[in-house]
Amino acid sequence: MAKESILVVEDEDDIRELLRYNLAKEGLQVIGAATGEEALQAVQGRLPDLILLDLMLPGIDGLEVCRIIKGAPETRHLPIVMLTAKGEEADIVAGLELGADDYITKPFSPRVLLARLRAALRRRSLPLPPENAPLKTGELVIHPGRHEVLLQGEPVHLTVTEFRLLHLLVRKPGWVFTRSQIVNEIHGNDYPVSDRSIDVQIVSLRKKLGEFGSHLETIRGIGYRYK
Ligand code: CA
Repeated sequence: MAKESILVVEDEDDIRELLRYNLAKEGLQVIGAATGEEALQAVQGRLPDLILLDLMLPGIDGLEVCRIIKGAPETRHLPIVMLTAKGEEADIVAGLELGADDYITKPFSPRVLLARLRAALRRRSLPLPPENAPLKTGELVIHPGRHEVLLQGEPVHLTVTEFRLLHLLVRKPGWVFTRSQIVNEIHGNDYPVSDRSIDVQIVSLRKKLGEFGSHLETIRGIGYRYK
């Protein structure tokens, strides 16, 4: 099987080399780019399987690289994992809304980094279940067609918005959704849903789901994910 290839975009040589070393050790092929320009050039050739993208780059910055890659039909399917510094929540949110798949905050542990990259690579090859397909995860079953949720075989009574929110998160496990992504996804013409009301919906969902509710994870300053 061909090695999976990762395009590592990082202007700091030490970090880029450390990443190269750690990823190569795990059998991944690494292509290095020190600037946004180099990264864009690299995807003109053979496409990598994933892009690990530092956001703070001189010249074309990471968010702009993300915008260009996610905006072009030939490259928009490429998973992007952002490398960010602490306190860059606004940029993380912007990147996720541009279509980035995940992010890792520096300083990172190589083990955690690798797990996140593997998860992103795995998600890439897993087709998303169809909108109306029943989802089963642990003791939870969601029947979208019937608008029904069963927990340990018992029905859970959810509002329409709670149902849509739960379905959205569970359908893409491990995926971080920003509040405005959630609003856009579950918004119906007749349901006024705002960023802040998402938080309220989550609290209510967690309450109704009991212990299972702890799978709905709050990502501080960013959004929510089902884990
Ligand atoms: Ca940097």
